[in-house]
Amino acid sequence: MIKLKGKSVLGGIVSGKIVFYSRAESVVEKRKIDNPDIELQRYEYAKSCALSQLKELYNTAVGDVGKNDAGIFLIQQMLINDIDFNKAVRELIMQEHYNADYAVAKTARDFSQVFSEMDSDYIKERSADLKDVCDRLIRHIQNKSESGFNVCDKAIICADDLVPSETVRLDKSKVAAFCTCYGSSNSHTAILARTMNIPAIIGIGNGLLESYNGCEAVVDGYSGILYIEPDSRTRGELEKKRVDEAEKKELLKCLKGKRNITLDGTEVKLFANIGGLSDIDSVIENDAGGIGLFRSEFLYLENDDFPDEEYQFYNYRRVLEQMDGKRVIIRTMDIGADKNISYFGLEKEQNPALGLRSIRLCLERPEMFKTQLRALLRASAYGRLSIMLPMITDAEEIRRTKALIEETKRQLDSRNQSYSNDIELGVMIETPAAAIMSDRLAQEADFFSIGTNDLEQYTLAMDRHNLRLESYGPDHHTALLRLMKITCDNAHRYGRWVGICGEFGGDMSFTEVFLAIGIDEISAAPSLILPLRDKIRKLDISGREEILRKYGCED
Ligand code: PEP
Ligand code: MG
Repeated sequence: MIKLKGKSVLGGIVSGKIVFYSRAESVVEKRKIDNPDIELQRYEYAKSCALSQLKELYNTAVGDVGKNDAGIFLIQQMLINDIDFNKAVRELIMQEHYNADYAVAKTARDFSQVFSEMDSDYIKERSADLKDVCDRLIRHIQNKSESGFNVCDKAIICADDLVPSETVRLDKSKVAAFCTCYGSSNSHTAILARTMNIPAIIGIGNGLLESYNGCEAVVDGYSGILYIEPDSRTRGELEKKRVDEAEKKELLKCLKGKRNITLDGTEVKLFANIGGLSDIDSVIENDAGGIGLFRSEFLYLENDDFPDEEYQFYNYRRVLEQMDGKRVIIRTMDIGADKNISYFGLEKEQNPALGLRSIRLCLERPEMFKTQLRALLRASAYGRLSIMLPMITDAEEIRRTKALIEETKRQLDSRNQSYSNDIELGVMIETPAAAIMSDRLAQEADFFSIGTNDLEQYTLAMDRHNLRLESYGPDHHTALLRLMKITCDNAHRYGRWVGICGEFGGDMSFTEVFLAIGIDEISAAPSLILPLRDKIRKLDISGREEILRKYGCED
């Protein structure tokens, strides 16, 4: 038996088979070859294999997503057959005597450069297809299998780390747990694991080896331990722990339908964070009062091209309908930083977390933003929608978004499409600037929701993905809490309400101070709703001043 310790992201004990995810990045050497004819044959053979794979992918995709979306595989076939592309590869092999994989990689780079300099967004976006197709060709030349993996039932997905676009594409019904060598508790993979209620351990380190692929294992998400081929005694102990925890969870079910109210009568709303439609069952099952954060960018991450208005409208509308009149806060897409998507063709930035992300990107691409706004407005006719803007640093960003919303409404009027006239517009407090300027923002926004994951990283200058920066000193929390208090005080002064939707909101060792500073709503992973309700119902915050002093954020 091998025992590996990491950091727990979400409790739960599950057994399954390790499936190691490796991102098979091809390494391409630059070599001079002796026999260009044979090298050219290797290229032609790789091309025919890649073409037949792409045809198969197209046929499967037509059945799954329809002709339109499957078209990407037709475009990729055209790129492989492109005369100029083939001429360039052939010349590098036949005239300059380079190895075939290098010839493909170099041609891909040269063509990408040309694409990126074109004016047309459409051509720019083809860079990603070219990269995909060339990676496929290179894999065939090098005789390597496709990156990624086949997920068996009850898979314990192990990886060095996963990026959000990889996590969202996994077949969740087959994933028993996630274990990663690196990662941090505020990373989006950790957040997704919590939202999907999948036990997860991060930061296991280098001891998590690819050679464990296929081994039977048990994940103890409570203590953050991965047991590889556990002995029968350990299995027995873990099974007992699993049953005990399940009983505790069962007991919490009696809190369904009860109020989130402290012993001294302070009431707070408990909402759920979701990544998409598939999380709604768990929101309802756990009796959340609403959706406090729907991360709409997952609709973009799950797809290979921009989700169109109809697709977005369908998803927002279904969430609103299923929540049956309860408040649903949909955050406009927050792409950028770690949530990067190749088809956006974002320029490489030195500090993407400080770059053109979220609202900045939306305001720079108003047509794309208006597509989302139209879908949101149309969906608003089917429930109680609030729209929330991420990464706000300036009231002007809210005003510019309002102008786009008005423009969008006029478009819908001309199409005779209905929308609600009672949509609250809120902003996320994720930057120190937003907290400090919250008095001004409160005059433009209907509510705030504090995104502590980003607020923490920008306040403490600590990358939220860096596991080595996770052990906080006490002043770190105080800094964050003081900004949260400034935000609450300013919001209340202007009659606005304030929620928390970052992961900090689920940390029950701080619930008392959240309530003492005046937080009105906490939004957390669905599985945390009942434990939070339990916690709140046992608290007494009548000694508010004393609590604030204890945490260093007295008035
Ligand atoms: C946050 O920053 O706290 C937040 C909720 O947004 P995200 O985690 O998606 O960046
Ligand atoms: Mg954020």
